Amino acid sequence: MKRNNWESKIDTIQRDVARRIVGGHRGCAIKAMYGELGWRDIKYELDKRLLRFLGRMWVGGVPDERWSMKVFLEGLEDIRKGRALTPWWARVSKKFDEYGLDAGLLIRKEGLQKWRTHVDKQIASKALVDWGKGMEGMSTLRYYRKKPTPKYEPYLRDDWEKKWELFRIRTGQAMLNGIRSKWDCNTEEWCVVCKEIRETEEHLLLECKGLTLEREVVMRAFEGALDERGKEEFRGLSQVDKMGWMLGLDEGVAKRIGKQTWKRIFVGIGRLLYKRDRLADKVGWRKGMLGGK
Ligand SMILES: [Zn+2]
Repeated sequence: MKRNNWESKIDTIQRDVARRIVGGHRGCAIKAMYGELGWRDIKYELDKRLLRFLGRMWVGGVPDERWSMKVFLEGLEDIRKGRALTPWWARVSKKFDEYGLDAGLLIRKEGLQKWRTHVDKQIASKALVDWGKGMEGMSTLRYYRKKPTPKYEPYLRDDWEKKWELFRIRTGQAMLNGIRSKWDCNTEEWCVVCKEIRETEEHLLLECKGLTLEREVVMRAFEGALDERGKEEFRGLSQVDKMGWMLGLDEGVAKRIGKQTWKRIFVGIGRLLYKRDRLADKVGWRKGMLGGK
């Protein structure tokens, strides 16, 4: 995709700001950072502006002497006479395909508001599809994919030092041996606590025998917030789905549990992983990426 230089500069700045807010490291997936903030690429905002402007020009809301209006009218004349599209019109026409826009709304003069609503809706749904596609096949995002839409997470606003931890666990960046061993040949994949099974977030949180006490604290808070049906449903889930619930990525579950309880759950998960890191330190294994920058 050809991009303007300044557009890619804005992109870089936007990504950098997102990374600072959520505490992502260099290799962190942008889709996950934006998912946490409810953001999307600047491209969609620019396209939205372009298409809304097109609507205004179409209904004559822009003075004829404006340069953009002249380009618009000349291009329209070209289209009517079957001549080749000007670069501006070619760009607009591509957007119609990309977002599946209905030109009929403009041609039938159904009103500017209707057009705007249509544009916003089509762009939002394309952005959502792109967001999901961007996370496909990334094993670190196997829990994060449970989040249905990019949405601002209020915990980021809190003056709460654990927020970066939560983001790192949600997005598989806790740098546990199961992941690290894939690229670091000095690391073995085994769990540092029990040394029996490949070390992953779900192993530590849900099954590791060496972390039973820490797990109980988390489970008491979490299951305590569910009703009987919820508890039963939770027990029947796959490990990855369980993680999605416990990390607050399932929208329905996230809503059912109060903010203070979530805080207790997340603090408990943080403690569990800290214990893992202390043990790793003791036996001379590599620590994870929790806490700090
Ligand atoms: Zn273990």
